[in-house]
Amino acid sequence: MANTKPETQLVHIGRNPKFTQKGVNPVIQRASSIIFDTLEEKRHATRHRADGVLFYGRRGTQTHFAFQEAMAELEGGAGSVLYPSGAAAITNAILSFISAGEHILVTGSAYDPTQNFCDHILTKLQVKTTYFDPLIGEKITDLIQANTRIVFLESPGSITMEVHDLPALVQAIRNKAPEIIIMIDNTWAAGVLLKPLLFDVDISIQSATKYINGHSDGMLGVAVANKRCIETLRENSYLLGQTADPDTVYMANRGLHTLPTRLKQHQENSIQVANWLQERPEVEQVFHPALPTSPGHEFFIRDFSGCNGLFSFQLKSRLSTEQFAAFIENLAHFKMGYSWGGFESLILGYQKEDLLSMRQYDFQLNEGTFFRVHVGLEHPQDLIDDLQLAFERI
Ligand SMILES: *Cc1c(COP(=O)(O)O)cnc(C)c1O
Repeated sequence: MANTKPETQLVHIGRNPKFTQKGVNPVIQRASSIIFDTLEEKRHATRHRADGVLFYGRRGTQTHFAFQEAMAELEGGAGSVLYPSGAAAITNAILSFISAGEHILVTGSAYDPTQNFCDHILTKLQVKTTYFDPLIGEKITDLIQANTRIVFLESPGSITMEVHDLPALVQAIRNKAPEIIIMIDNTWAAGVLLKPLLFDVDISIQSATKYINGHSDGMLGVAVANKRCIETLRENSYLLGQTADPDTVYMANRGLHTLPTRLKQHQENSIQVANWLQERPEVEQVFHPALPTSPGHEFFIRDFSGCNGLFSFQLKSRLSTEQFAAFIENLAHFKMGYSWGGFESLILGYQKEDLLSMRQYDFQLNEGTFFRVHVGLEHPQDLIDDLQLAFERI
């Protein structure tokens, strides 16, 4: 479906007639064993390891193949690999390419569990991690060592929402060390708002748990890779035993069809809420990539096609324990919970020390209490009223 607009592309995607058996949607094929009628058929399946050939449940069924094809098409990759969670996608993508004693560069505002994996698992392989300022740009080359194997990006960064200068980063890395594998956590963009592979990133990783599934009722990870990386990624992830259950994969594939429409509404609602927050006297700064106050806003405007419902804001002052609870525990619509990307609004709060514990580079932060919100599909006025009452409680 080349040249169609995203809404149209995503109506058609994931519906290859090979996998739909004349329905609108792909079949849900639950299978471990695949039955071969002839020795030749078994030989073919064993040798021919590309997606789309039934071999054994762990390598995927018709349901997986439909979604894998959709994700590769969506992000412009040579193929994709599925995992039981976004975290598994990140760790397996890294493990598929790193060797003992090598070095990895990781953006300093990477999702906290990504950092924990580097600090607690990669260290067991004597792999050293260097965290860098997400706004470092082409100066990334100063941090590249002879044994640097992977650069791991995430844009916007988790919680503090810094947007990378992606073309500057990638070009600088390619010029200095073309063998380095560049990966990005593309969960925020949902494969729609940013197309990292078009910027020559090798692997785009997502938690499909978030916007792709979109209803807070399933866990799934996906990594889309270019030609250079897909076979290594597929084989290594298989050897590491990675698989996803077909029912969840089916839901993710279904989620794709409404993804651009949902994102547009999340965008509209979140911009309204962010603009309102920006006017509040209690608010120091709003970290919403679409607002000029957000770090890397100029790169966001240049490289992204839109935004979603996830952003953060910081208060001018630090809330006391009682104020913090009064603010966050009594909201009617913003529920306190991890994750995001569903239809519902969510909120998490952080004091300075909470955030600093997730930042392992020279990161400056003032005292004000920090909140990250996911603006859902409720009416934005109801959400604003909810926050207004929270401010009145403090
Ligand atoms: C949630 C999240 C993940 C992890 O995804 P799970 O499916 O929850 O394992 C990875 N990266 C980012 C940016 C996330 O927000």
